[in-house]
Amino acid sequence: FSEGGSGVEEVPLRRTWVPPARGEELPEIGAACPVQIVLTDDEEHQFELDEGALESVLMQEHVRDLDVVVVSVAGAFRKGKSFLLDFMLRYMYNQKSNLWLGTDEDPLTGFSWRGGCERETTGIQVWSEVFVVDKPDGSKVAVLLVDTQGAFDSQSTIKDCATVFALSTMTSSVQVSLILLISKLMKGFLFTEYGRLAMEEIYRKPFQTLMFLIRDWSYPYEHPYGLEGGKRFLEKRLQVKQNQHEELQNVRKHIHSCFSNISCFLLPHPGLKVATNPWFDGRLKDIDDDFKKELENLVPLLLSPEKLVVKEIGGSKVTCRDLVEYFKAYIKIYQGEELPHPKSMLQATAEANNLAAVAGAKDSYNKSMEQVCGGDKPYIAPADLERSHEEFKQSSIKQFRAVKKMGGEEFCRRYQEQLESELDEAYANFIKHNDSKNIFYAARTPATLFAVMFA
Ligand code: GDP
Ligand code: MG
Repeated sequence: FSEGGSGVEEVPLRRTWVPPARGEELPEIGAACPVQIVLTDDEEHQFELDEGALESVLMQEHVRDLDVVVVSVAGAFRKGKSFLLDFMLRYMYNQKSNLWLGTDEDPLTGFSWRGGCERETTGIQVWSEVFVVDKPDGSKVAVLLVDTQGAFDSQSTIKDCATVFALSTMTSSVQVSLILLISKLMKGFLFTEYGRLAMEEIYRKPFQTLMFLIRDWSYPYEHPYGLEGGKRFLEKRLQVKQNQHEELQNVRKHIHSCFSNISCFLLPHPGLKVATNPWFDGRLKDIDDDFKKELENLVPLLLSPEKLVVKEIGGSKVTCRDLVEYFKAYIKIYQGEELPHPKSMLQATAEANNLAAVAGAKDSYNKSMEQVCGGDKPYIAPADLERSHEEFKQSSIKQFRAVKKMGGEEFCRRYQEQLESELDEAYANFIKHNDSKNIFYAARTPATLFAVMFA
């Protein structure tokens, strides 16, 4: 309510759902909400990354050093992405309950969604609350939910949709795709060629989980709803047939070598109220039972703690902090006129990969040094400070070298050199800081003066 007491509440642009128990984890923002991190303008078709927005989500203190699970939903407008994501949110907020789906009368809220076919902006949104989940193996991971809106309609160019799709593929560990236009999207081997190059470099599949989600499946007698039916459906669709166009054949062969895990899920129609009633607000009672039943199977397949897949790039796990670097690197290569060559995508990955490793190693060094000579620590002898610096510098470099990196030895050495000079720079600052704590040193001149004056 407004403070002025006018009684007129501003109508929120998006319906956001204030989570009951975890709201306080985001004190300054208040209620969690969708945050636009990548946007495009319609005329210039230029993509832009909102770094501040991205950092406000991923650099939150309690998540930034956790390994990140990035679950993105990709598809055209009005395909039900937000609708699905809102159920994912319900699951994340009510995970421990068997009734996470909600009650009959709760309207659906979260990522904005509405009926009609009005155009929305192309881009990427993330949920502002990053969920911290304990995996059964004892590790803690951060879960980021991503809504990827591609412009797969007539108004936009192939480049726009390919860009959004590529960004989402390269930054997510679990991609739920509402598009089955493999041939069209992967035109020019955008991903497959990238995949091949990446594999040559690190000898493993570059991408992780891809799930095709087929909505409004209406032939359950042919292939049943869910994963099993989806598997058979996909096998049929991906079958390489003799008479197919060669390019298409290659794409189909390659897609399996690019993703560690490909699946397909057949989802029934949610019912006419969902699809056609303009007043429908997502209440469960208006949704068909079959749909709800399958939804209850689908969401835990993607989000239950044991199923969560941590994002890996070049064979290393990625933290929230690293992910910021990757987004920055990837967006750069998509800002040109042309679609980037797979080689430059790989180059950007290698660069971000190294930069992330530098950032992580530097952070460890700083943390260790803070323990020894941070603001709340007393002055220490310069020789002791130097000894600590040498020790932490070595372990920081060791940490950098231990991260599996792309780009080859020569390329990585440049980043190691960068790390070393940044550490020396940081050390110089620690020295200054330490010296300023030395009261004898700081007071020497005035003390002498004082002595002379009263001599
Ligand atoms: P988005 O643009 O992809 O985020 O789509 P929305 O989630 O906003 O949904 C667009 C419309 O499709 C809404 O009116 C939903 O009620 C409806 N919808 C959501 N899921 C489905 C589905 O699986 N099948 C059908 N036919 N409609 C759906
Ligand atoms: Mg949407």
